[in-house]
Amino acid sequence: MNEAERPTGIELVRDSSLRIRWADGHESELPLLLLRQRCPCATCRHEREQAGSAGSALRVLPHAAAVDRGRMTTAESAELVGHYALRIRWRDGHDLGIFDYAMLRRLCPCPACGSLADRP
Ligand SMILES: [Zn+2]
Repeated sequence: MNEAERPTGIELVRDSSLRIRWADGHESELPLLLLRQRCPCATCRHEREQAGSAGSALRVLPHAAAVDRGRMTTAESAELVGHYALRIRWRDGHDLGIFDYAMLRRLCPCPACGSLADRP
């Protein structure tokens, strides 16, 4: 497996971020809001498609009342799925999103990786 896509340490900071140390020595701090916005499950993908090409601020969690947003972007737990991915269970009960490591690495918002963050 690609060293850049193999985590050697994962730490969930429930109300803010997911920290991952990668086998190539890189460390990522992924904001939970970003991960929820990019949730790869079919339901969330469908919602984002429905929201269409509205500005990014609107595309963010389109059907969430303000009150719910805190729960949607707070993680209850993260569990390993096989050797390739992580499943995040959110505070609002949503747990269908399985984030594979390649995707998580691609989402790394640090300055060195940042230019890649908006790629699909
Ligand atoms: Zn989802």
